[in-house]
Amino acid sequence: MRKKLPENYIPSIFNYCDRWCERCHFRSRCTLGSDPQLNEIENDMENVDEEKRMEMTIDYVANQFASIHEMIKEMIEKDGGNWEAFMKDLEENPVEIKEPTIGQSAIIELAKSYGYKVFDFFKENDWTNDPAQISSKILVLPEDLELHLKTMKTAFENIQFYAFFIGAKVHRALTGKANKELYDWDDPIQNDDNGSAKIAMIAIEKSTISWLAARKIFSELEDDSLTFLANLQRIKKELEKEFPDWKAFIRPGFDTEPNAQK
Ligand code: SF4
Repeated sequence: MRKKLPENYIPSIFNYCDRWCERCHFRSRCTLGSDPQLNEIENDMENVDEEKRMEMTIDYVANQFASIHEMIKEMIEKDGGNWEAFMKDLEENPVEIKEPTIGQSAIIELAKSYGYKVFDFFKENDWTNDPAQISSKILVLPEDLELHLKTMKTAFENIQFYAFFIGAKVHRALTGKANKELYDWDDPIQNDDNGSAKIAMIAIEKSTISWLAARKIFSELEDDSLTFLANLQRIKKELEKEFPDWKAFIRPGFDTEPNAQK
């Protein structure tokens, strides 16, 4: 049974957003963000540990795949096709996925390893999640403390949120570019790999701003932040060479609606 579409929904908006639904201005107009099942899971996740959260996420994704499977079946049958024949054809003629070039694979590795390094950094520096420890480490006037704590919290949240997201989007952009003939995109600008590169660039930009904000407040972060900033700049430079027109891609909603938050 196909899900009911939200009112004023924006088609495909979820493909080129940052997937931070809690903060999204378009949530009620997005088929993914407005999914009641997702809303329910998010509420339930607030009171469980990391392991349980992972289990719930995997269940949710598995359910999503099951409903996509049902939806495709429904569409094929509605058009008079035969589901069993369709599946048999898929099995007998698997789609050949091309690997990205050596250079493109190196960019994907670079972006993914940035995520793992950030993950390790926050694991080793658990004071970053403790406002009391943060307060004891920053030298500011008492009246400025609250603002600095808020800045740090936002910076650390952003850095962690985008850490793996960047690698995932760089991967999608470059594998998409390597397999262009499989997709129905003939526009040199408005295509999935360019759109994926654009959202990766936006996440790199937000992460860069966050590292800069953190290092401004914490002198002890200077060395680590410099390494991460250099990593981000390298990913950006390499991605820019592969997708020189990324800025021109128009993201549904974010680049089309007046006053949209990017
Ligand atoms: S568009 Fe907004 S609500 Fe939809 S998936 Fe992206 S972040 Fe979530």
